[in-house]
Amino acid sequence: MDGDDVATRITITFEEAAFGCKKEVSFARIEACPDCGATGAAKGTKPETCSVCHGTGRVTVQQQTMLGYMQSQRACSACRGTGKIVKTPCKNCNGKGYIKVNKKLEVNIPAGIDSMQRIILRREGSAGRNGGANGDLIIEVQVKPHSLFERDGNTLYCDIPITFAEAALGAEINVPVLSPDKAKATEKYTIPEGTQTGTRFTLRGKGIQDINTKRRGDLIFTVVVDTPQNLNAEQKNLLRSFASSLGETNNRKTGAFFKKFFNR
Ligand SMILES: [Zn+2]
Ligand SMILES: [Zn+2]
Repeated sequence: MDGDDVATRITITFEEAAFGCKKEVSFARIEACPDCGATGAAKGTKPETCSVCHGTGRVTVQQQTMLGYMQSQRACSACRGTGKIVKTPCKNCNGKGYIKVNKKLEVNIPAGIDSMQRIILRREGSAGRNGGANGDLIIEVQVKPHSLFERDGNTLYCDIPITFAEAALGAEINVPVLSPDKAKATEKYTIPEGTQTGTRFTLRGKGIQDINTKRRGDLIFTVVVDTPQNLNAEQKNLLRSFASSLGETNNRKTGAFFKKFFNR
């Protein structure tokens, strides 16, 4: 009989999922008792062949019916179908031959794994019986969320605040990128003048490595104009005189919007 599969869970950081890591997983599985070698018999003794079924584990029962004698087979109750009788049970496993063992295993978590994905370690589950194969160890991975990045498949997303002046004049900005260590890595990116809030830009190959193809996805960032707040009187006056200098070509969207509205 094959052994049971064993399921366990592991929680890793966003970076560990992106770049891969080694992690220790804890789980409990059934193993053959080392003291008795899975026989269930105490040290120095051996299980004896069941005298009721002569080791077959099955008994034939005869029943008288209207049609005469009927024969049927049934599991031997004396040995519970095992064909063997343990007179002196092993103390370590109480004669069961198998024990529950708490295990720890170091597991390679491949780069690019995502939440709810599973790592299956063949034959690391519970022990098989009577020559059956061991079950598998199934590790379900949970990835902690990141404070800055969101992930969809191999694509990373983040919002980056820029000032009104940077948006209007264009600017070289620092875009945070995901890095395996705690070191904060950034990439320089030049946003063009006249950039609108909500505009998306793509950094190719700065996303998550694909778990199979190893190709890296993209990082898509959205710029969000951080409207200045808490202006003092002088700043407000400067902004008012600046605003009054603006013509139709400076705020095309606003102009077009109201044109649409009034010309309906
Ligand atoms: Zn034992
Ligand atoms: Zn028996």
